[in-house]
Amino acid sequence: MPGPLSLSFDTVAQGGKRALARALSDIEANDGHPDVARLLDEAATEARAHVVGLTGPPGVGKSTLTNALIRHWRSEGQSVGVVAVDPSSQISSGALLGDRTRLDTDPTDQQVFVRSMAARDRLGGLSDEALAAIILMRALFDRVLVESVGIGQSEADIAFAADSIVLCIQPGSGDSLQFMKAGVMELPDIVIVTKADMGSPARRARADVEGALSLALRKQQDWSVPVLLASAQDGTGLQDLVTALDAHFAHLVSTHSLTTQRDRQARQWMHDRIRRKFGQIGLKLSQFDRWHDSGLALFESERKSHEDLLRRLTDNS
Ligand code: GDP
Repeated sequence: MPGPLSLSFDTVAQGGKRALARALSDIEANDGHPDVARLLDEAATEARAHVVGLTGPPGVGKSTLTNALIRHWRSEGQSVGVVAVDPSSQISSGALLGDRTRLDTDPTDQQVFVRSMAARDRLGGLSDEALAAIILMRALFDRVLVESVGIGQSEADIAFAADSIVLCIQPGSGDSLQFMKAGVMELPDIVIVTKADMGSPARRARADVEGALSLALRKQQDWSVPVLLASAQDGTGLQDLVTALDAHFAHLVSTHSLTTQRDRQARQWMHDRIRRKFGQIGLKLSQFDRWHDSGLALFESERKSHEDLLRRLTDNS
């Protein structure tokens, strides 16, 4: 049994940004430790933030929009946690980005916390560390923004972690057609055509997206996906985005979907995690669902599954 870590949810909650940064590093360095599972399970029950996922191809304007949203929420006195997933840096290729983020926030502001994280794979998928950071930040801030590059199917990863998904599309890029082909149009709760200051190409892109959406399968029958024009440069459409996000969150709450959606996402993530570690057969043999259904917390069920599968594999060798 590994020794105890000095990690408790209360210490993190009371210790400000420094304690949070330390906890995230401890989580990364101690994957599979019972204290990490305990901390994350406790954080999962303390969820308070609206988690917004912002995705789209490189250069579409995600960072610019993230900066604008941070400023907007801070001006309302809301606290904001940001997870920026950097596809150019992969977990396997070494160090995390640290503070080399393109976001421009005030380091002395205790109510904004930005964590850059390496992507799980070349396509910008979310790592387990990113999910852990989201779960922890969700318990500590009013808003959590996850910015990730979406190229083809890797947008789907953000659906494991976000309450509301915003897909960003660049005018004149033909992206909507590509996204429709890749099945990505089924994912967003809100679509933003960025760089609206470009004029008619932006309006055309909006019409294309509306066309693509009308052909796509709907994730939620009772939510119609708004397609908004926004320019982070001149501020147009930012308020519309904020309003649409609030409306989507209110919709999740009023239809009692927020908790079920979060539970489903978390379970899917754990299945995916077990499958990545132990393959399809490992997932079949795993007791995760049985343990979790009988009341064992999420991260602890996964940790126990890992331990159990590993033991069975090595027992048979
Ligand atoms: P990301 O790679 O998706 O994060 O995109 P960035 O936010 O870094 O933006 C890519 C480029 O688009 C930068 O040169 C920005 O200055 C530019 N950009 C971002 N938002 C806007 C906008 O609303 N209008 C215009 N014209 N350019 C923008």
